[in-house]
Order: sequence, then structure tokens, then C-alpha cells
Amino acid sequence: MVIVRDITYQSLCEHHMLPFLGRAHVAYIPNGKVIGLSKIPRIVDMFAQRLQVQERMTHQIAEFIDEVLQPKGVAVVMDGVHMCSMIRGVKKHGSGMTTSAMLGIFREDERTRAEFMAHIQRASGQSLF
Ligand SMILES: [Zn+2]
Repeated sequence: MVIVRDITYQSLCEHHMLPFLGRAHVAYIPNGKVIGLSKIPRIVDMFAQRLQVQERMTHQIAEFIDEVLQPKGVAVVMDGVHMCSMIRGVKKHGSGMTTSAMLGIFREDERTRAEFMAHIQRASGQSLF
């Protein structure tokens, strides 16, 4: 399992045109093809650089990696802090939000998913600000 943790990102909420930012954790299980680890944060950036919704961005990143690498599975978990909810008290999306997308073996196999979650939970704990 290849895991890239704590990829910081910032994006703009398409509902309110206000920033949201956080960290992404990406994992895949190669099926022949691999990419350089530095490419994964660039993929996250590529999708963060447009008006976004955190849930959709999470799925777009997973699907993009799935298409490019055709791995056995892809997992993406993103934490986000949304300025719109902090400033306006909008309850549309909570101020701190976690979204995830699991494809392939991460969706099918509970142990694989648990292994990934254990890896990223060990890393978290430090706060965003
Ligand atoms: Zn918003």
C-alpha cells in the first residue's frame, strides 16, 4: 500500500466563494503502474484549484488516480475547515468536515480499509492552525 499523508490543500467553496482548506490523505495499491510520490500532491492541487465542493473533490481525486494508474484500489480521505461556515454560521457544511472516497479493494475489503485508516489516524493529532 502506497500512502501519502497530510497533503495540505486550499480551495474555494463554490457555494459561497470562500476558502476552505485542510489535509488530504491518499493511498493506492499498485497493480503494475506506479507514479512518483510528488505527483500525488500535484493531483490534489489540480482539483483544489477550481471552485469546489469538498465531497466532489474527494471523489474526483480518487477517480483520477484510478483512471491513470488502474490500481487494485484507491482511498482518499480529506479534512476541511470551511470559512463560509465559520464566518456566516452557515450550517450547510459543518466548519470541520471529513470526506472519503474508497474504490476497488478499499471498498470491498474491510481489512484494507482499516489498515489505511490506522495509518492516517496515527499521523493526525496536530491541528491545522
Ligand atoms: Zn461554503
